[in-house]
Amino acid sequence: MRGVCAAALFAATALLPILLGPCSTPSTAQKAHPIDLSASGVARDIDPEIADIIATTLAIDNHAHPKLPPPNDTTDRNFDALPVDNMEPETDPVAWRPDNPQLTDAWSALWGFTESAPLDAEGLKRLNAARQALKVREGQLYSAWILDKSGIGTMLGNRVSMGPGLSKPRFQWVPYVDALLFPLDNSTLETTPDRKQFFPLEERLRSEYLKAVGMQSVPSTLGEYLNRVVTPTLERQKAQGAVAEKFEVAYLRGFDFADTPRAEAERIYARWVGRDGPDPADYKALQDFLFRYIAAECGRLGMPVHLHTMSGGGGYFDIGKDNPFLLESVFNDPRLRKTQFVMLHGGWPFIREAGSLLQKPNVYLDFSQESLTFPPRTMAVWLREWLETYPDKVMFGTDGYPFSESLGWEEATWIAAHNARQALGLALTGMWQDREINRARATEIAQMVLRVTAAKLYGLQ
Ligand SMILES: [Zn+2]
Repeated sequence: MRGVCAAALFAATALLPILLGPCSTPSTAQKAHPIDLSASGVARDIDPEIADIIATTLAIDNHAHPKLPPPNDTTDRNFDALPVDNMEPETDPVAWRPDNPQLTDAWSALWGFTESAPLDAEGLKRLNAARQALKVREGQLYSAWILDKSGIGTMLGNRVSMGPGLSKPRFQWVPYVDALLFPLDNSTLETTPDRKQFFPLEERLRSEYLKAVGMQSVPSTLGEYLNRVVTPTLERQKAQGAVAEKFEVAYLRGFDFADTPRAEAERIYARWVGRDGPDPADYKALQDFLFRYIAAECGRLGMPVHLHTMSGGGGYFDIGKDNPFLLESVFNDPRLRKTQFVMLHGGWPFIREAGSLLQKPNVYLDFSQESLTFPPRTMAVWLREWLETYPDKVMFGTDGYPFSESLGWEEATWIAAHNARQALGLALTGMWQDREINRARATEIAQMVLRVTAAKLYGLQ
């Protein structure tokens, strides 16, 4: 896809009702695209030619949680294996709060709703009525319409399952595999109020995975568990269209996955399967083995492995144990070099640690969620360092997620998509002005970040 111009991308996907300009240079007509960067205060610092390419390239969103459109929108809970809307209160970042001024822009752009954030209870009712009008108008096309409004051609939907209105090619499935890491009794792992909620949810998903292979409980040997449950689950998800597998294991334990020999894992499994209270050190060693086994199988099946690498959510999240440096022994495992790993959310607060790991040939990152949580000028500094070192390893993402009544997955997607584009514009303009790259290379990197790298990684058009 390298070198394919934005106009050709639009023409190929035929998604947006816009006038298309000539292929060689961005045209005025392309500015008709709904992604309008000019309204932002940072626009004056973005080169207009670079801004045009960024505004008119349909993005591949590496990570988000779209909800089903009507009539399933109100009952859909499969947008996350561990929905975080029931956790104990944490101190939300400013961008997630109901008074984030960017909400006002998103409401206006998406629903034509002109009131300002924050809203009181009556205001929220009016906001929901405005949303509902668009849902009724768009019907099954509603979720794809949200992508159109956010300049996203394809969204990787990280969900337990997809459904009507979230189909290819606009939506690609990324299921969860954490449930396969925890085959024993998990009661001793419920060490925080949040994990008390998480592990039963993982066990419910594990039951569904077992049911799909005709079992009611995990088998008695590790060999059977791997051959009859783990591998068939990954193969089934691949056959059902999954393009990657997601671990949100950082919510459940740390990233220190040791290299447990198979014989030891077999002994531990046989000793504790079906029994209460497995020895914590034993159970960790078994999880470590399973993580590497699953990662290797994902490599064999050609599915990149996604890892949540960012502080939170939740006030009990172990930030220090989520340091991406702890993954280095996994990334350095020669048996896993055929597995492509993607660090989601850029590793914040371990920005530089995550960036340095891009040196590994099979490691990538995206800046989903960061793009929602941090203003463009802050994120541009991080992006610039990554793009100066490993520009072909960095991908656009939003982490559009139903955060709250005022910040639905729709608003989160729209805000993050705009912030991400502005940050990318600032970073590339700075590199061009300082003569690190020429303008042609700047626009090429913009397209790589927005879609070309992801298109190659997942084999998407
Ligand atoms: Zn997410």
